[in-house]
Amino acid sequence: MKSVDAHLADILATVRALAPLEVELEQALGTTLAEEVASPVPLPPFDNSAMDGYAVRAADLPGVPVTLPVIDDVAAGSGELRAVGPGHAVRIMTGAPLPAGADAVVPVEWTDGGTATVTIGRAAPPGNAIRRAGEDVQAGEIVLKPGTLIGPPQLGILAGVGRRRVLVRPRPRVVVISTGAELVEPGNPLGPGQIWDSNSYTLAAAVREAGGECFRVGIVGDDAAAFLDQLDAQLVRADLVITSGGVSMGAYEPVKEALSPLGTVRFERVAMQPGMPQGFGVVGDDQVPIFTLPGNPVSSYVSFVLFVRPALRKMQGLPAGPPAPVPARTTAPLRSPQGRRSFLRGILADDGTVAPVHGQGSHQLAALAAANSLIVVPEEVTEVPSGAFVQVIRL
Ligand code: AMP
Ligand code: MG
Repeated sequence: MKSVDAHLADILATVRALAPLEVELEQALGTTLAEEVASPVPLPPFDNSAMDGYAVRAADLPGVPVTLPVIDDVAAGSGELRAVGPGHAVRIMTGAPLPAGADAVVPVEWTDGGTATVTIGRAAPPGNAIRRAGEDVQAGEIVLKPGTLIGPPQLGILAGVGRRRVLVRPRPRVVVISTGAELVEPGNPLGPGQIWDSNSYTLAAAVREAGGECFRVGIVGDDAAAFLDQLDAQLVRADLVITSGGVSMGAYEPVKEALSPLGTVRFERVAMQPGMPQGFGVVGDDQVPIFTLPGNPVSSYVSFVLFVRPALRKMQGLPAGPPAPVPARTTAPLRSPQGRRSFLRGILADDGTVAPVHGQGSHQLAALAAANSLIVVPEEVTEVPSGAFVQVIRL
């Protein structure tokens, strides 16, 4: 059997970062920056007031209270300003440019709020409540580097330096296909021997959470030709394909049957539990990467966490590797098969303990939904006593 680490290494050696694309700012959330962004101007672009108040010369306020004539009124956005001469005050609003001559702003709270004259009750030192030009960013300074994931604050600074469009690595477009003659779309009644398709919902959600754009296409029955037709139709819009089901050792394994003859997808047994039967490779003229995940709901989700998510990160131009585990103390003894790395479903608590959930079968989706983590038991370990330290992957 192939090791989990070797399988991930093969995947990351095949998958490439997506080509950069220029997008409108509105489309950039969740993408990865593919250029260096500098500010064309200093930020703030001009000295301005940090508060509503009065722009004055600090030297005019030695003996407060003092009453000064108010010679002008400056709102944010004002362009033409009268200079503040000795003994003068200008009423000024937050964000308004500081008039020449002024070197301090007295907050309105320290005054009587007058409009013709103002009586100031408290002296302000030079520089008080003034935001200097370039205090945040100098002209030409780099504000974002390539490889930065664009979240709301990053979008904000892009707009703040005047950008309308930006070069990014786009969200990977991922097609998710469920296979199985027993599957029914949720919302439709179940016939004998049927179950509702849950995998495509889990996987589509996991793709979106990982920053991808997902196309959840309908269920394909256990028919290799129908599966190939659907795959062919979907490839035009796919940067990555994920299938579930149809790759085990039984009869009626349409994914394996359809893709094996191509020779570009390898079906392997990976030394893990759950999720032993794994397939990965490329399909179509564009060599689109494809993951053929096992059908059991827990197996397919664990496979996503271990293999698909790192691949999606690499496609987005983000650092990609195995999920980082944290140590925790198990509250119950654990068992694991010899020679396979186990990923048991657990509940990680704030006190640093992890409790395995009841129901560790790879079909037990409710137990997965009750868990918040995977407890990793190494290949050579078959039993872990209660109270021992284990490594845990947060879900
Ligand atoms: P397979 O890998 O096709 O042999 O399927 C293994 C197990 O997973 C079977 O019990 C299937 O019914 C179940 N299964 C396969 N696909 C899905 C799905 N999309 N949703 C829920 N269960 C599934
Ligand atoms: Mg099946």
